[in-house]
Amino acid sequence: MAPSVQPSSSPLRTSEGDEKYANVKWEELGFSLIPTDCMYVAKCRQGESFTEGKIVPYGDISISPCCPILNYGQGLFEGLKAYRTEDDRILIFRPHENALRMQDGAERLCMAPPSVEFFVEAVKQTVLANKKWVPPPGKGALYIRPLLIGSGAILGVAPAPEYTFLIYASPVGDYHKASSGLNLRVDHKSHRAHSGGTGGVKSCTNYSPVVKSLVEAKSSGFSDVLFLDAATGRNIEEASACNIFIVKGNIVSTPPTSGTILPGITRKSISELARDIGYQVQERDVSVDEFLEADEVFCTGTAVVVKAVETVTFHDKKVKYRTGKEALSKKLHSMLTSIQTGLVEDTKGWMVDIDPCQG
Ligand SMILES: *Cc1c(COP(=O)(O)O)cnc(C)c1O
Repeated sequence: MAPSVQPSSSPLRTSEGDEKYANVKWEELGFSLIPTDCMYVAKCRQGESFTEGKIVPYGDISISPCCPILNYGQGLFEGLKAYRTEDDRILIFRPHENALRMQDGAERLCMAPPSVEFFVEAVKQTVLANKKWVPPPGKGALYIRPLLIGSGAILGVAPAPEYTFLIYASPVGDYHKASSGLNLRVDHKSHRAHSGGTGGVKSCTNYSPVVKSLVEAKSSGFSDVLFLDAATGRNIEEASACNIFIVKGNIVSTPPTSGTILPGITRKSISELARDIGYQVQERDVSVDEFLEADEVFCTGTAVVVKAVETVTFHDKKVKYRTGKEALSKKLHSMLTSIQTGLVEDTKGWMVDIDPCQG
């Protein structure tokens, strides 16, 4: 194991650990960075492909001031999780899906992407090198953050001559700690994405423009912002970093991913699980009016998993939805996390074991 060069820059991280676990206050995990020992780095030139990468100590990277990620936002990120099971295996949730999504994004931003196999292998190596940081069963997950960035210097607006594929990780607990449900505010002024833009890929450029709306909403006591479609302002799209579903009777609906909504892997998985238990799942436009009339609303994403929405505020109107034990989101959350943490058999082939003996 490479020695850590990282200072204990998190209050949850202490200087000692034992053989099996890093010294982290596992009970207190939230969603903030706890630097681990190692990260993964690979580089490749435009027009070539990624062929090798390595595990290095976690730390700052050196980059040209003139690279497209810094100047023009030519970059993508991914997010996925690894879980420790009761019998001490470590499982990663659907990494091939993240690899494919990175390829879609790379195509949109003219970047050289890692192949699916290269991506999955790199994720496995990163988790293996940071095994001590995968929380004990039931205490959280190791959040894995792959980045693909235009790192080679070029002055004009053009694809970078060189790309860096980097993966770092952090143990995490709940994204919205100690809340029974989210309180969303519908943003009727700014938009996250527009037709023909980059809303459908995990481009770095999609996120800093939503921060203002998010900061304002949070300072008014809301947990997140819900964006409307830019074309009509009538339909719901998604929150700042998670997808949205509504439930009415036996029908579960979510807006279609036709370019302005990020095609979430949790979204896709939850749709499948809801169908499995007899719900009708529809991907279609959902108007704000219909949304405000729903029985139940919930959000999905790697970070939030499945989270009930307790209230939605649109202009002066505030609506309350079903939450708690009776909510479908509770059931779906339990179904999904049981698969992810190995509590039930994974009949869908979603989980990838990092055991190096299994290749
Ligand atoms: C990452 C992300 C999601 C959720 O995708 P998952 O694959 O489920 O993690 C949803 N919306 C946005 C805007 C995102 O960035």
